[in-house]
Amino acid sequence: MLKLSEIFCSIQGESTYSGFPCIFIRLAGCNLRCSYCDTKYAYTPARKMSELDILAEIRQFEPLKLVEITGGEPLLQDKVYSLLVKLHEQKYKILLETNGSLDLAEVPEYVTKIVDIKCPGSGHSDSFLIGNLKYLNKSGDEIKFVLTDKIDYEWAKVRIAEYALTGYKIIFSPAFSILEADELASWILQDKLKIRMQLQLHKYIWDPAKRGV
Ligand code: SF4
Repeated sequence: MLKLSEIFCSIQGESTYSGFPCIFIRLAGCNLRCSYCDTKYAYTPARKMSELDILAEIRQFEPLKLVEITGGEPLLQDKVYSLLVKLHEQKYKILLETNGSLDLAEVPEYVTKIVDIKCPGSGHSDSFLIGNLKYLNKSGDEIKFVLTDKIDYEWAKVRIAEYALTGYKIIFSPAFSILEADELASWILQDKLKIRMQLQLHKYIWDPAKRGV
């Protein structure tokens, strides 16, 4: 059985898939406690479900075939791997959002990984497993930095150089209501950074505190 927080359908808002209707499977539990975490309710499970129950529940959203496994931190639960296999067998396009602190070795290649590198403002800037880079595909997977201030921004630039991340899909996202989007935009333009800036789209469509969107 998997421990879940919620299952819902919404507009994808935090990757290069932003804007697409997407099914979300939010698994419960997280090994980090980021300062800006907006899904604290996912630290504890709301329900337990088998992989087959999950597949049955998301069938209500057909014909959508884009699904994101998120959390919390989804890789904390071993059973997530059999869920990935079953979703793949059912022809779902799978996105996996993970905080970067857990080993990606067992995540199948057909899964698009959206991996955080946590900045100092999160309180977990030592959490990224550098060995995970070898499991990331430059053409498909994505690396995300959530930024709270100029210190985070400069830190992220140093990590891009240090980890030789040029060529990967890199996203800079301002922590909602902490760093102003226009401020981040001005830094990126000033430095002519070859990264993608992104806002959490769902927080502009709906009330930012609303769950299940
Ligand atoms: S990794 Fe994600 S879910 Fe976990 S504390 Fe940080 S923001 Fe929240």
